[in-house]
Amino acid sequence: MISLGIECTAHTFGVGIVDSDGKILANERDMYRPALGKGIIPTEAGEHHRKVSKQLFERALEKAGIKIEDVDVIAYSAGPGLPPALLAGFEFAESISKKYKKKLMPVNHPVAHLEIGKLTTNTKDPVYVYLSGGNTQIIAFAEGRYRIFGETEDITIGNCFDVFAREVGLPMPGGPEIEKIAKHGKYIELPYVVKGMDLSFSGILTKSRRLYEGGARKEDLAFSMQEVCFSMLAEVTERAVAHMDKKEVLLVGGVVANKRLQEIMGRMSEDRGAKMYVVPEEYSGDQGAMIAWVGILAYKSGWKDGVISKEKIDGKWRIDEVEITWKE
Ligand code: AMP
Ligand code: MG
Repeated sequence: MISLGIECTAHTFGVGIVDSDGKILANERDMYRPALGKGIIPTEAGEHHRKVSKQLFERALEKAGIKIEDVDVIAYSAGPGLPPALLAGFEFAESISKKYKKKLMPVNHPVAHLEIGKLTTNTKDPVYVYLSGGNTQIIAFAEGRYRIFGETEDITIGNCFDVFAREVGLPMPGGPEIEKIAKHGKYIELPYVVKGMDLSFSGILTKSRRLYEGGARKEDLAFSMQEVCFSMLAEVTERAVAHMDKKEVLLVGGVVANKRLQEIMGRMSEDRGAKMYVVPEEYSGDQGAMIAWVGILAYKSGWKDGVISKEKIDGKWRIDEVEITWKE
């Protein structure tokens, strides 16, 4: 069985092809890049996706060495995300599903990040730390669903890094630049805000901004931002590991490329008798293979139209609304 997956929630348009053994046959993608110093403009992302979709679709089939006739299901990222971008992806997925008479399956984007992480690291039942541009969540599987144990109350870590980086004149994406300059920084106190299992990063951004305007070095602020954000995250993850008695911690999403984060989370996991895993970089950001893989999992577990979807697209579709049919 073969699944073709389409990713389209934000910057990236991706087409991935995966077979039922979890072998990734193709994973083609292209990113919309906003003008220098600007954030993402949703309608522009949608236009980008429409422009590149056909070409990436053909390239993915060619890479995989298959024909569209060999594909059993077309899975697409139905949310959460930016509505114009989601709509572009949905319309393309629908058009090929109609043209070639293939089943069309809506997939929840965060579920796909977790599942591709599990596939590529061979983990069984981890606590997931999901850190992307749009999400900061600590998640674990319990009773048929992915449950959110802790999350940000305001902005995400990725966003905190990106906005600060932009304001101090670093190129985008800001996260890797923060990591680079943090190597030359010293600690300055920033607000550490953990409320129960939830986290808040907006105070860190505001305080850093104010200190920078007052003459503090961006290197020191980058270093301190990393230390505080990652320590807060480790505290909540540690609680989830202990409470759920899990033996694995799996880091997924673009932010987890950060080596300092890996160091802090690795040490915490070890202290707790758990092992930390990091999704390989090729699969940490948004791409189509993760969507295709959920297509396989759902299809194999008896998916019928509508089982995992709410609507065609849903900009605010939360991970805990999805019934996971492929786990005991
Ligand atoms: P995603 O939405 O999963 O593609 O992740 C994108 C986010 O990851 C952006 O906010 C980036 O700034 C952030 N990011 C990427 N690499 C790093 C890094 N080395 N350290 C911190 N953040 C990073
Ligand atoms: Mg993502």
